[in-house]
Amino acid sequence: MKIAIFGAGVAGLSAAIELVDKGHSVEIYEKRKVLGGKVSVWKDSDGDSIESGLHIVFGGYEQLQKYLKHVGAGDNYQWKDHSLIYAESDGKQSCFKKANLPSPWAEVVGGIQTDFLTSWDKFSLIKGLYPAIIGNEEYFRSQDHMTYAEWHRLRGASEHSLEKLWRAIALAMNFIEPNVISARPMITIFKYFGTDYASTKFAFFRKNPGDSMIEPMRQYIQSKGGRIFVDAKLRRFELNSDETIQHAVLQDGHHIEADAYISALPVHNIKNIVPPEWLVHKYFRNLHEFVGSPVANCQLWFDRKITDTDNLMFSQGTIFATFADVSITCPEDFQNNTGSANGGSVMSLVLAPAHQLLTMPNEVITWLVMKDIHDRFPKSRKAKLLKSTIVKIPQSVYKAVPDVDQYRPDQISPVKNFFLAGDYTYQRYLASMEGAALSGKMVAEKLLGRLGK
Ligand SMILES: Cc1cc2nc3c(=O)[nH]c(=O)nc-3n(C[C@H](O)[C@H](O)[C@H](O)COP(=O)(O)OP(=O)(O)OC[C@H]3O[C@@H](n4cnc5c(N)ncnc54)[C@H](O)[C@@H]3O)c2cc1C
Repeated sequence: MKIAIFGAGVAGLSAAIELVDKGHSVEIYEKRKVLGGKVSVWKDSDGDSIESGLHIVFGGYEQLQKYLKHVGAGDNYQWKDHSLIYAESDGKQSCFKKANLPSPWAEVVGGIQTDFLTSWDKFSLIKGLYPAIIGNEEYFRSQDHMTYAEWHRLRGASEHSLEKLWRAIALAMNFIEPNVISARPMITIFKYFGTDYASTKFAFFRKNPGDSMIEPMRQYIQSKGGRIFVDAKLRRFELNSDETIQHAVLQDGHHIEADAYISALPVHNIKNIVPPEWLVHKYFRNLHEFVGSPVANCQLWFDRKITDTDNLMFSQGTIFATFADVSITCPEDFQNNTGSANGGSVMSLVLAPAHQLLTMPNEVITWLVMKDIHDRFPKSRKAKLLKSTIVKIPQSVYKAVPDVDQYRPDQISPVKNFFLAGDYTYQRYLASMEGAALSGKMVAEKLLGRLGK
């Protein structure tokens, strides 16, 4: 079969890997010049890698790790110490370090030893979070009608632990506050965190997600005969009388004909391309229930090291929610003599919530980031800022607010030759690289199942 895939993020590339492996003729059309979507990385005029966002691989990302191995990138990421590190004022750090015991003792003992939670926090968390630890998928789904903050309070867990521990996790996961995010994804994470020792460890790409993951995927797909076109924006579909796609039309007027068409576009893009004729189907109308979460990523190059932490860090009460010194966590990029780096720290910081930042000049955002950096990393007060960059994404992953989960579409659409992939489509993960990879695998399987090949 000839299969046209629109969008070269992790979802589109994963679908392509599956389909070229089965011997199909695959063409990918990507609107930008760079592949990878929200994971894309590009070099600026100084030779620095600019990330769309700081990206972490979790131990539980089984499908993504299978693809990385499959395309020869299985060694391109590196595990870090198994702990949640919170940067506090004046350079102090708090740490939730899992004990070296089987779950759930690893978490219980680790939690009891944690110094930034009070005894009441610990007691209220063990008691309050218990239903999440023993819960199943059905229970998690049944909690989607309320926000995480509501769920937390209903369970009698302390306000201090909400602010201190979970706020940063909600902001890291979906770039929204605990009183906005649905309880469902948060308690699902607790289940993983509390019951599976390995699934919550973090890894960083040795270089960056572009060079360490997207580029090997591209090479693999092309080595198997897949064709990838950039600067190729999908504009619309023209239909047959039975509502199937006759051909796709790109922005430059090119017509694309294929046996099957996969959208691996973000939901906010595909919902505007869906032909009006298809809106008779609830399946397509439901796409309008999703709203993208705004987020921004800031990178700062310093003339000296301002931290020695080789891991992901969280903080609360700052403009950034999660961050890392990528000159330490990513040993094959951001090093001395790579672009602007001179051996000093290169901080990559995810700024969330970001609604108010989108219209702010970058200079003002940088000033706000630096104020918080000076507070959390005293060594930065004497350091010189060599360079700063900001990438704003007005609509990134879909907002996992209450009651939206039910609208996540299956990969099979009511239109016989049209399929959806993407982190927002239904799979067991929230919007993430793993969710995107799973959606790519599922779309390929369902497409081949439906079209009988
Ligand atoms: C700041 C930030 C940090 C993150 N951190 C993590 C993390 O640590 N771990 C994790 O697992 N996940 C993380 N994520 C989430 C993760 O990046 C996404 O869930 C995942 O990459 C989405 O992949 P996707 O293929 O579904 O969509 P996308 O990556 O959005 O890919 C869609 C592609 O479609 C293209 N496109 C759009 N319109 C058209 C058109 N009309 N024609 C052709 N092409 C089009 C886009 O250019 C894009 O390349 C983060 C996201 C952000 C923004």
